[in-house]
Amino acid sequence: MAVISALFRVQQIETRLNGLRQMEQDLSRDANVSALEELLKEIRSQLSVRTEKASDIKKNQKQLELECERCLEHYRQEETLLYSGKISNPRELEQIQQKMEEYRQLQDKLETEILRQLELDEKIDSEIAVLEDRLSQCLKELVTRKKEINEKMLELQLEKEQLHAELETLLPQIPDDWMARYRKIADNHRGIGIAQLKGNVCGACHVSVSDSLLKAVKHGDDRLYFCENCGRILYY
Ligand SMILES: [Zn+2]
Repeated sequence: MAVISALFRVQQIETRLNGLRQMEQDLSRDANVSALEELLKEIRSQLSVRTEKASDIKKNQKQLELECERCLEHYRQEETLLYSGKISNPRELEQIQQKMEEYRQLQDKLETEILRQLELDEKIDSEIAVLEDRLSQCLKELVTRKKEINEKMLELQLEKEQLHAELETLLPQIPDDWMARYRKIADNHRGIGIAQLKGNVCGACHVSVSDSLLKAVKHGDDRLYFCENCGRILYY
């Protein structure tokens, strides 16, 4: 390969390598992954709040059921006493009836509260089911997206390795002073230090070159020629 072609190819490779690095960076902070991770966090936090609530409700229910049982027991004790035939004092009878009425009312109240807790429990359980569904959907999407990213990353890595291997064969072919010159121009021209002629026009600045320069570049002797307009090395 002519030295000038090798130099042009080096530029192509380095440009591509920069592009690949950018693509890797974009992939590593993929917007879909961030959005999904944010969503996961939100769902998990909602789930944890509801799970805690559900456990409180269940504890409450147990407590209410115990109270209800105790209440019923007291009611029966009073009832047994009432029909035992041992009580003859009307005032005592009245007191027992009064207590029975209080236990009955308390039991009504407790049963209403148990029902209310049961409804709450069902509501929370269905909310938890919906959230768990969303969580598993979200996790699935995240796994898929991460797999896509990994595959793409591997492709990029492979291409980078191939380009680096090619660079290693090209760089020794280019004299140090050419390379230094190229780097200096490239640094001042957004990474493009060598331009290919398109007809008689510089491929970088798109200005036509003089006939004599065109002829010299096309002839391709072993020296560097520079665009009269932008100063870049010209390659035919
Ligand atoms: Zn130019």
